[in-house]
Amino acid sequence: MLKAVILGSGAAIPTKERGLSSVGLRFAGRVYLFDCGEGTQRQMMRFGMSFAKVDSIFVSHSHADHIVGIAGLAQTLDLSGRREPLRIFCPKGAAGDVEALLSIGKYGYPAVVSEIGEGAVLEGNGFSVKAFQVAHSRPSLGFVFEEEGRRNFDEKKCAALGIKGRMFGELEAKGEIRVGGKTVKYESVSTAKRGAKFAYSGDCVPGKGTVAAARGAHVLVHEATYASDKEEEAREHLHSTAAQAAAVAKKAGAGRLVLTHISGRYKTPELHLLDARKVFPETVAAEDGMELVF
Ligand SMILES: [Zn+2]
Ligand SMILES: [Zn+2]
Repeated sequence: MLKAVILGSGAAIPTKERGLSSVGLRFAGRVYLFDCGEGTQRQMMRFGMSFAKVDSIFVSHSHADHIVGIAGLAQTLDLSGRREPLRIFCPKGAAGDVEALLSIGKYGYPAVVSEIGEGAVLEGNGFSVKAFQVAHSRPSLGFVFEEEGRRNFDEKKCAALGIKGRMFGELEAKGEIRVGGKTVKYESVSTAKRGAKFAYSGDCVPGKGTVAAARGAHVLVHEATYASDKEEEAREHLHSTAAQAAAVAKKAGAGRLVLTHISGRYKTPELHLLDARKVFPETVAAEDGMELVF
């Protein structure tokens, strides 16, 4: 199970309602941050996400509204006595900007900045993170966080075959057991269950790469800086409109679309939702503090 909290849903300039870009993902007691705009640490405090549990930060690109929060968060982690490394992953060419932010402070733990390309980024206990390329005005990546799939026992089948107690563990470990004079295979008494899949676009124009990477995602958090009234502007600044984000979600067969990075020019996301839901009904507009459990 994954829990995502929208920590900042605004674009470029914060507003009273919207902080700058960040999504916190909680998995197995750890927190993974996707972008870390200015004020992210305070948003974490407001919305009950422990900054002490931050494991890694995935940076989509080095525009200020996505990275400035790293400086303050890194300092707070030091003052809170962190000793374990903080891993920061960013696109090629972005490490210098992240390191410049980190150079403001001193830390009693290693802050390790790595430039990455498309593909596998991190393999952890029960999850993996992959990056995919997106088109924006500087080198940019989107990310996919996927929980490992698992198998669930079919209780009826197991009971009928007389499988009980320790036999379950043995079946899982060995792949088969002998019971009642028969060999029973693990696959024949269990069903596969996909792990939860989360996709994050960062800033980008709509692209095939996002469609492919977000295929079957339970939740796709896609930027939608503009609505249909500013399509020209979206193209010019290499951003997406809500309808374009919805088309990506539809092609990817996503479960839910969350529109984020919403320009402060919109007082409400009404037009975004109207545009997007025509294409992809399972759309919501991000709000700071919004929680998604999947
Ligand atoms: Zn941005
Ligand atoms: Zn940007």
